[in-house]
Amino acid sequence: MSYLYEKVSYLKGLADGMNIKEDTNEGKLMINMIEVIEELALAVEDVQEDIEYIDETIDLIDEDLTEIEDAIYEDEFYDEFECPECGEKIFVKEEMFDDECEVEVECPSCKEKFIVYNFECDEDEYDLEDFEETEETDEEEK
Ligand SMILES: [Zn+2]
Repeated sequence: MSYLYEKVSYLKGLADGMNIKEDTNEGKLMINMIEVIEELALAVEDVQEDIEYIDETIDLIDEDLTEIEDAIYEDEFYDEFECPECGEKIFVKEEMFDDECEVEVECPSCKEKFIVYNFECDEDEYDLEDFEETEETDEEEK
């Protein structure tokens, strides 16, 4: 029994003890009010139970989702970037680089376009002049 319902029971006991009956206008009003309060308390209890159930369900869905996410990210390599405009996290698949060291992506949130860099490229290989060379070296390594 909830705390709220306990208080309603106390009110009912109090009304009983005071010998409040429906034979006066005031008594009728009070008894009906207590009945309404009792119904409200029961309704609140139901809502609380529903919320607890929903909470537990969401936790289970969240756990399942984490498992699914883990399974997906295990299969394919994703690199995580942050949109410079809005800070949205963006996952870029390895094959999106298509053996380039950088690729332009569009933020799904704010539509800002920005360049992300392939972590597999060494930093000193970003120079455009020896980019062709780098590409060939990459091919050989695979
Ligand atoms: Zn953005």
